[in-house]
Formats: sequence, structure tokens, C-alpha cells
Amino acid sequence: MGIPARPESMVGLVDEQTLARIAAEPGVPLDWRPGSDTDVATLVGSRFGEQVVRRSVDPLLGGVYSGLSDSIGVRAALPTLAAALDRGASSLSAAVAQALPEPSPGPVFGGLRDGYGVLLDALTERAAATVLRADASGLSRSPDGKGWWIDPLGRVDGVVLAVPAPSLAALLSEVAPAASAAAARIPLASSVVVALALPDGTPLPQNSGILVATGEAVRAKAFTLSSRKWPHLAERGGALVRASFGRFGDADIVDAPDAELVAAARADLETVTGLRVDPVDAVVQRWHGGLPQYGPGHLDRVQVIEEAIGALPGLAVAGALLHGVGVPACVAAATTAATTVAEQMAR
Ligand SMILES: Cc1cc2nc3c(=O)[nH]c(=O)nc-3n(C[C@H](O)[C@H](O)[C@H](O)COP(=O)(O)OP(=O)(O)OC[C@H]3O[C@@H](n4cnc5c(N)ncnc54)[C@H](O)[C@@H]3O)c2cc1C
Repeated sequence: MGIPARPESMVGLVDEQTLARIAAEPGVPLDWRPGSDTDVATLVGSRFGEQVVRRSVDPLLGGVYSGLSDSIGVRAALPTLAAALDRGASSLSAAVAQALPEPSPGPVFGGLRDGYGVLLDALTERAAATVLRADASGLSRSPDGKGWWIDPLGRVDGVVLAVPAPSLAALLSEVAPAASAAAARIPLASSVVVALALPDGTPLPQNSGILVATGEAVRAKAFTLSSRKWPHLAERGGALVRASFGRFGDADIVDAPDAELVAAARADLETVTGLRVDPVDAVVQRWHGGLPQYGPGHLDRVQVIEEAIGALPGLAVAGALLHGVGVPACVAAATTAATTVAEQMAR
């Protein structure tokens, strides 16, 4: 997540003074209380300085959590780093070195050629599931005491709540007030993505994307050079780019008019790549409250939710608010939740 283990990885990104500070960091005594938590900016800034935070850590964390490192907690967002610190790493450099995963021979990115809808359709078909679409407005014990009652659907044997934190807080208010209160303390970040189709032959840089440092004079926080990143998109012809805007605490831009967002995407793309091109098409997609913000103490809130729900057979929670916002983490949480409820229902 952009925190260096050695100064070499920051050459060209930060100044000489910061490089010297990174090199000297292993010799500076580290004050970390096992089990404690802090925001990532405070930890990294105190060891390596502000440039590492704003030019390296913010862009990478922002790409995942849609927030700056000031509002993201070490323990929930960087669990392997927190574990290395808890084990007594002598410096942040040493903790980062311990936390780094083994290099993997596989591709860096993975996706589904035709989007997630394909997967959901296949899962629905394989499970022979009946899909009912409704906004759940209430959750209570069923009158027979053996199941659950969901408004407006009615009685069910088991429930997996895979909804964003505010909806979870509302649905749990009657059956698990402590969990409801904990969920209500998980804030959400909003963002907006502007997809641009540029003319065939547009010479996009040979990168998968571009991350923008905090404080730069552009409004976009990142660009995905989609037709470079995904070969199957390149096959469609044209040059595809996605510009992302908005983050936790700075979400006004999310509700800017489409035309303003498309103009900002074009202008910022020109600033960072030098490309001045008219898109042949543009699509704006807003993600209001799309990502939970893992602030310091987030895992304490998750623990309250999981302990309260664990005492209620036939009810489970899944989703990005628990143990990771990435799709693989959400799939893992959902698998655990569904397995638990199925086992409880079978008893
Ligand atoms: C712009 C953006 C880009 C991302 N890119 C990536 C990426 O490249 N790779 C990656 O791994 N992850 C990515 N993520 C993160 C990942 O997509 C999400 O964290 C994940 O999809 C969240 O899944 P979820 O099931 O928890 O929540 P959601 O997908 O938000 O689903 C929650 C569902 O609950 C429904 N709901 C809410 N309230 C109720 C109610 N009362 N009753 C019934 N239904 C309700 C909502 O309609 C919604 O369908 C990205 C996220 C965003 C916003």
C-alpha cells in the first residue's frame, strides 16, 4: 500500500531529504503498543514524512478505500502490517518487509470478461434460486419463534444480511441494538467514475493506470487505462479510459453535473498524459456510499456486530463492511455467512 521497506522504491517520487529519512528509519526507536490502532497517515508520516503519505500511500489506499490515509486505520486496512508491528518489528521498514506477500507468478489483475452480472446469473441458475427483489424495511423474529420475519417479504428460515452499513444498522435496530449502533458508526465514502471512449489509435501510455498524489492540481484521483489493463477490452477497438473522482470527506464532486465531470476527466487526462482528444462516448457512474471507510477502531465495531449476530441462530452478516472491501474478501465473508446459516438451519 505504498509504504516503503527501503528508500530505493521511492526514488523519483520523493525528495532527497525524505529518501535519507527512509534510509535512517530502521535506526529510530519505534513506539507501537501491541493491539493498538492509529490512522495510516499518522503512522507513516511520523516515520517517513509527509511526502511518502501524500505521494505514495494516499493514492494507493485511496484507490481501494476511496479515502485518504488520515481516515483509514492501520489494523483493518493493513492487517499484516499491524500483525508485524504487534510481533515487535523494530521499525516500520522492518514491519513492511515482514508484511510483504511472496511475489506471485500470476497476473496482477483479475476480472470477468463480461462483468459480474454473468457470475450472478450463473450462480442463480446453478442454485435454481427464486430471486425476490425488495427493499427490506424491517427484521424481527417470526411469530413462531423458529425463524425470521422480513418486511415486506414475510417469514423465512434464515437470513444473510449483505447490505451497506446504514441499511444494516436500520435492519438490526430491533433484534441486535448493539450491533445496529456499531454498524451506524461505520461511515461510507462516495465516488464517481467517468468512462471515456477515445478514438482508435489514441496513444495511451503503456501503463494499466495513473494514481494522483494528494494536493496535485487535478480533480481526478486516478485513471484506469482500461484498454491497456484488460486485453479483452482492447479487442473491442478504441482506447478506453476511466477517471475516478471523489473520496471520503470530499464528495461534493460526486453530484456535479455529468457534463462538468466529463470535462474535468478530459482536462485532467490532458494534464497527466498530454493527450488532448475528444471522446467518442462518455458514461458517468456514481457510487453513493459505495465503500465503507475502515477508520481506526473499525475491527472493534466489526467484533461487536459479529458477536451480537453470532448469538442469533439463523442470522448472519456479510459484505464489504466486515473483513475487506475487495470482491475476494466479500466472497469469503459471504461464504462464511451462508455456510453458518445453512448449518444452523439444518439442526
Ligand atoms: C467504484 C468502485 C470500484 C471498485 N473496484 C473494485 C475492484 O476493482 N476490485 C475489487 O475487488 N473491488 C472493487 N470495489 C469494491 C467492491 O466492488 C465492493 O466492496 C463490493 O462489491 C461490495 O459488496 P457488498 O455485497 O458488500 O455491497 P454492495 O455490492 O454494495 O451490495 C449491497 C446491496 O444491498 C442492497 N441493499 C441495500 N439496502 C437494502 C435493503 N434494505 N434491502 C435489500 N437490499 C438492500 C443494495 O441495493 C446492494 O445491491 C470497488 C468499489 C467501487 C465503489
